[in-house]
Amino acid sequence: MTDGVGREASRSTLRTATVHTGARSIKPILTRCHPVRSFVYGAAGFVGEPIHVVVRPRAGSLGHCGECGGRGPTYDTSRHPRLFECVPLWGYVVFLVYRMRRIDCSTCGVRTEQVPWADGKNRCGNVYRLCLARGTRRVSWRAVALIFGVTWGVVNRAIRWVVEYGLLHRDRGRVTAIGVDDIAVWQGHKYLTLVDQIDQGSRRLLWVGKDRTQATIRAFFQMFGDVRAPARQCVVSDMWTPYVDVITQQAGHALQILDRFHVVATLNNAVDEVRATEARELARQGYEPILTHTRWCVLKRREQHTLDQHRTLKDVLHSDLRTVRAFLLTESFDAFWAYSSAPWAGWFLDTGCTRAMRSRLEPMKRFAKTLRRHRPLLLTWFAAKGAIALGVVEGMNTNATLAIRKARGFRTYDVLETALYHDLGRLPGPVFTHRFC
Ligand SMILES: [Zn+2]
Repeated sequence: MTDGVGREASRSTLRTATVHTGARSIKPILTRCHPVRSFVYGAAGFVGEPIHVVVRPRAGSLGHCGECGGRGPTYDTSRHPRLFECVPLWGYVVFLVYRMRRIDCSTCGVRTEQVPWADGKNRCGNVYRLCLARGTRRVSWRAVALIFGVTWGVVNRAIRWVVEYGLLHRDRGRVTAIGVDDIAVWQGHKYLTLVDQIDQGSRRLLWVGKDRTQATIRAFFQMFGDVRAPARQCVVSDMWTPYVDVITQQAGHALQILDRFHVVATLNNAVDEVRATEARELARQGYEPILTHTRWCVLKRREQHTLDQHRTLKDVLHSDLRTVRAFLLTESFDAFWAYSSAPWAGWFLDTGCTRAMRSRLEPMKRFAKTLRRHRPLLLTWFAAKGAIALGVVEGMNTNATLAIRKARGFRTYDVLETALYHDLGRLPGPVFTHRFC
């Protein structure tokens, strides 16, 4: 794989080479698809494999100062042309060839000019960077790099530029419901905290933070909290204590809800612990391996079972096992979410917790204790019914995992953050004449 911006001919070749006119017809195409104000396209042709298109300032036009953006007269023009890679055409790499001017700015002094098709010293044109970044919405970063013949780093830098633009220009207007969630990365060795806007009809990633400590979530409130706190009506989170504590301190006026997805996940972990321990014990004692391959039978809802899983579960349920008791407790807990009245749901919760405490199953008892500790927050779910969609946090979590998978290859926090904002932040992109899908 070659670096796209490194495929240029050497500068000395460029200075002496006359651009062959084999690709003359590209000029009207560029003028139409990639117009640049105050500049005109000149000679175009092949220099080796790539196409080079000369760009010139329009006669009498003033350049923009690279520092403040103000207009000023030309001080001098570089003798060495600079190459800017553009969107490839018919499989050919296209470079814009331009001799940069220095501008005599009344505010900053003599400065290198700012050109509308690229930023600073970046040799990848803005439109090309946007094109690469948009490509990664559909396929992995590596696939985009392969398609365009550039390195993974070029794609990464393009996306970072688009994300930085988006974060700067995004609408941070009224956010009334947020969801706080963690996601395990790097094989579960590290965590990220994600804060999503989960208003009906308006879902997006608002913020990403390293780790899942109190300091992490506090950093979010410091950044977003002060201005919009009164507007926030609802905060959904899991039962992770640092989150719950900080949310109570920082957004005490908002309705705090424990997300159903996480409660169910905690319950499933408890059941699976009972099952795994019992399966090991049975194997050690030489019993028939009745619990082997039953993990998903026990964790999945009955209506999602395959025929085989349905049969296996039927066999297991006929036995007198601790796993069966745990499974039946789990199944009965499902009814909790169907209640419409919070007091009755509370009564059901208390009854269920008492049964779990008497079950003599340690993981189930621990789960019951967690539920009792969070009882008030669990019941707010019923007050907020309808305000937020069911499973919204679960959906965001799944999408975050997919976004990270698409960017795989590099293990830095910055890359993960960029990937998440890019895919889930619904950020506005730079606007050009051409819209990339
Ligand atoms: Zn200036």
